[in-house]
Amino acid sequence: MIASPVREEERQWLRRSLWQAEYLPSELQEKLIRWCRVFVREKNWEGCNGLSITPEIQWSISAAAGLMVLSYEDWYFDRTQTVLVYPAPYVAREDGHSSLLNTNIPAIMGEFPRAGQTIYRGPVVVNWEDILSDRQDGDDGDHLVIHEFAHQLDLINSPFADGLPPLPSGIDEERWRREMTGEFNEARRLVEQGYNVLIDDYGLTSESEFFAVASEHYFQMPHELAEYHPHVFELLKQFYRIDLRAYLPVAD
Ligand SMILES: [Zn+2]
Repeated sequence: MIASPVREEERQWLRRSLWQAEYLPSELQEKLIRWCRVFVREKNWEGCNGLSITPEIQWSISAAAGLMVLSYEDWYFDRTQTVLVYPAPYVAREDGHSSLLNTNIPAIMGEFPRAGQTIYRGPVVVNWEDILSDRQDGDDGDHLVIHEFAHQLDLINSPFADGLPPLPSGIDEERWRREMTGEFNEARRLVEQGYNVLIDDYGLTSESEFFAVASEHYFQMPHELAEYHPHVFELLKQFYRIDLRAYLPVAD
């Protein structure tokens, strides 16, 4: 099945799942379809609060996760064995002994509506309502699936998301910290002074959220990210090793 020719039905699933897909060269579309086949087959998929998992849901999540690592050979987020999907943002209850990401941020402790979460060596949790809107276009830069899987990449080299994923060769930690943290601090400073910045709100709550939200923008609005955060863009380009500016149209 993995090696069998790509079917027209799969091309349609991909295009429906990911607005960027139609702009990708056909060889990249095929590579992504083959990646999705593996991811859909290998993961445990669980619908929550009565949601039934369908191929449409599986493909919509897989296509975005796969786009992120399309330049990595045989990388299938092996530490994530289960994907939990809620119908809509859900209320999470802290149980006091979970290893939830970013429990150092008061705003996300306790009961509150949650769009998704990532657990170290545990499941990725997302909700279908947000995925349905994210897959349509990159207008607001948001993408829940990319956000949560960026946290998974961040967690590869430590049990805590710190905004420092395993670095590509050619970028040392000192440079990553200087440029990424530098932009993070600068954006916070500008917001405090009343300016609008591209990566705002939740992305400015911590360096791990900055990395995750910057990753969303990297795939959803690469032209804008490159313009407004060129250093961040360059670091992410070397990290993800795919530059969608080559394929996606510039927004009006
Ligand atoms: Zn996050």
